[in-house]
Amino acid sequence: PLVLGLESSCDETGVGIVRGRTLLANEVASSVDLHVRFGGVVPEVASRAHLSALIPTLERAAAKADVDLADLDAIAVTAGPGLMGSLVVGLASAKALAAYLGKPLYGVNHLVGHVAVDLLDHGELPMPSLALLVSGGHTQLLHVEDIATRITEVGSTIDDAAGEAYDKVARLLGLPYPGGPVIDKAAQEGDPTFIRFPRGLTARHDLDRHRFDFSFSGLKTSVARWVEQRRLDGEPVPVADVAASFQEAVCDVLTAKTVDAAQHLGVSSILIGGGVAANSRLRTLLEERAAAAGIELRRPRPALCTDNGAMIAAVGSEAIRAGLKPSGLGISADSGLPVSTVVV
Ligand code: ATP
Ligand code: MG
Ligand code: FE
Repeated sequence: PLVLGLESSCDETGVGIVRGRTLLANEVASSVDLHVRFGGVVPEVASRAHLSALIPTLERAAAKADVDLADLDAIAVTAGPGLMGSLVVGLASAKALAAYLGKPLYGVNHLVGHVAVDLLDHGELPMPSLALLVSGGHTQLLHVEDIATRITEVGSTIDDAAGEAYDKVARLLGLPYPGGPVIDKAAQEGDPTFIRFPRGLTARHDLDRHRFDFSFSGLKTSVARWVEQRRLDGEPVPVADVAASFQEAVCDVLTAKTVDAAQHLGVSSILIGGGVAANSRLRTLLEERAAAAGIELRRPRPALCTDNGAMIAAVGSEAIRAGLKPSGLGISADSGLPVSTVVV
């Protein structure tokens, strides 16, 4: 099917067009520049930016894919989770478009989009799989038995998301928002063994109850204390070494628990998705550890890891393939939509 996907859950306005599992267009307009001076996304600013970016981004995508919107088979839109004010802009636009064109509308889960997007890069997803979803707002391990109908949570962060930890640590090192890409870059020049930062929830007594869960707030505090001590001592802060050491702690625990969960569930493939899945160290370390365990790893290209419309179109396309009914025009946005609800 020819499917249009609209994404507006945070600060990216994304419009993607797919035909089945083939990516035809993926246009993204980000309002990140408007948020930089606040050190994080300002919801009201993001909603307004979606309003002005949506139509031009849609026009660019249709031109890129060289399709007439009248030829679409369906429209998919992010129904949640995300910022309520941002979600409603995309949802209202998608409803208007679906009503005007007379096309079925699918309200889909943003997180499932992150997990599904690799099918546009590397084809049909191996099922069952273990998925590591690592983004700005979520960090979860998921048992994916069917991408359109059966996804269950195996574990999740008990405090901060991995991307949130990157953003907070960047801030305390005096690096700009969003912190993920800048720490990734700074870490290239640093020594990952310079400081041994804590790996959350890996102590023996934590493993009983939290074997597949994550915690990053202790790590963040640990980095903050280390940096503060250095400043009190009047010593310069070795930014690259701190960045590399922090990144190593995050990626070590993410990859170890992901491989452990895959082996525990007896699945032979791992999927990754979400903004942090663009991280260079995470990608290589997981590749090494998955290969050592004889597990296939599916990694979407970095540009598809962060928010985009193609991932939403991909979920719509898989929902149609699975025979799911359209959502209808009466749906509403759900800022806390659970990952198990693929289509609302
Ligand atoms: P969610 O998907 O949970 O609703 P979100 O959509 O805001 O949250 P994404 O766009 O998926 O999150 O990811 C953004 C996050 O990814 C930010 O925290 C950013 O710092 C992080 N990120 C982006 N690139 C990298 C990278 N190369 N290394 C580490 N983190 C990264
Ligand atoms: Mg974003
Ligand atoms: Fe996201």
